[in-house]
Amino acid sequence: MNKGPEVARGKTKVLYRSADRPDAVVVVSQDQITAGDGAKRHVISGKGRLAALTTARIYRLLSACNIPTHYLSGGEDDDANEMLVRHCEMIPIEVVVRGVAAGSYVKRNPGVKPGTVIAPRLVEYFFKDDANHDPQYTAERIVDEGIATQHELAQMTDIARIVFDVLAHAWKRQNVLLVDLKVEFGRAPRSEGGTEILLADVIDNDSWRVWPGGDQSAMLDKQIYRNIQVPSEADLANVKGKYEEVAERVGQFQKTTGGFVGIVMGSSGDDAHAERILKALSGLGVPARKHVASAHKTPLYALEKVSRLDGMLGRVVYITIAGRSNALSAFVDAATANCVIACPPIGSNFSGMDILSSLSLPSGIASMVVLEPENAALAAAKILAVDDTVLYGRVLVSQYKNRTNVVDADARAGGSSGQTTPNGKASQN
Ligand code: 5GP
Repeated sequence: MNKGPEVARGKTKVLYRSADRPDAVVVVSQDQITAGDGAKRHVISGKGRLAALTTARIYRLLSACNIPTHYLSGGEDDDANEMLVRHCEMIPIEVVVRGVAAGSYVKRNPGVKPGTVIAPRLVEYFFKDDANHDPQYTAERIVDEGIATQHELAQMTDIARIVFDVLAHAWKRQNVLLVDLKVEFGRAPRSEGGTEILLADVIDNDSWRVWPGGDQSAMLDKQIYRNIQVPSEADLANVKGKYEEVAERVGQFQKTTGGFVGIVMGSSGDDAHAERILKALSGLGVPARKHVASAHKTPLYALEKVSRLDGMLGRVVYITIAGRSNALSAFVDAATANCVIACPPIGSNFSGMDILSSLSLPSGIASMVVLEPENAALAAAKILAVDDTVLYGRVLVSQYKNRTNVVDADARAGGSSGQTTPNGKASQN
């Protein structure tokens, strides 16, 4: 990448102004590995390359989930340990999310056994200050000292939680437990004026603890290096091997067998309902196919549709739309081992009692009922997200927006400060 002058230098990376884009910087990951706020320091040849590769793969995943990040390009190319990122004013706070007790949390809470699940997840803030060993700060102090506004901190907290959940999902698919995670944020100018909060800095194997099978002794992360007082060459080679394994595993994060929603409606009269489902699915990036087939009028044709959809490449979840007497949902459900969500449009005849035909089903039939078309789309997306971390992340982001809408409405009604999430109580120290 075309680099201008150096703009900043950290323990494991150097930042240069981009010679091509005035709003961007080039991050060059170094081969250093450090611990104890830089007191212990070694060089592992190739670590910078692995850090850039891991970071780029993680940022690509998070960007695909619609999470606002500073990442633009690079890091995954053949030989480069360089990434192009948006230039941010970094906020000097390490935001740590903990799902399982370990590290400094266990030291501060000696009564808690390492490996204990922390529920709800805990968000902690540490002020970046090596000389004072990154002291823990409360949310109030961060706001009082003008390091971030309350609104910015709430956004940082929410995004950190989502990032943790996305990465925990990706690791879980490989039977690896994400224990904790450190992320950082920056402020970047928004095109329409003002600034926006972006996830920034590297996220690599130094940023988390990961335990395969939930077994601490099988750890893959930097803690291995922290635990060795004076590492030998063989120890450093072992550490490098773990970094290679992690970079490789992170490369699997976006893999999915692919899924789609098969919408089957009993009549073309149900099309408006189907379109609402399609719109909601497309907002989450879920592919869908729409068909008309009636269980009452064209039973064999409907069966054939199900066989065809079942036979296509990719996992299918069905959403069935049939008003009045809804035979279609149970009929499709009996014909497939895949999930069927019944989303019947409810008519006004018989005071809407049509719904009972979707609820009272013969034994061995498991079609689920979700009445609102957008909610049916979300339910299908959640099912497909079991095998798809990008989709899982998009669902998390949509839930976050849902929460934000409520809290913002409350603020407009005079109810609160407009903060999206009050900081997790547990982060108060
Ligand atoms: P702890 O507070 O338990 O030492 O660390 C919590 C989490 O944040 C761990 O996943 C750890 O790897 C990460 N972490 C803490 N401090 C730093 C830091 O200065 N740099 C990086 N890259 N990660 C950190």
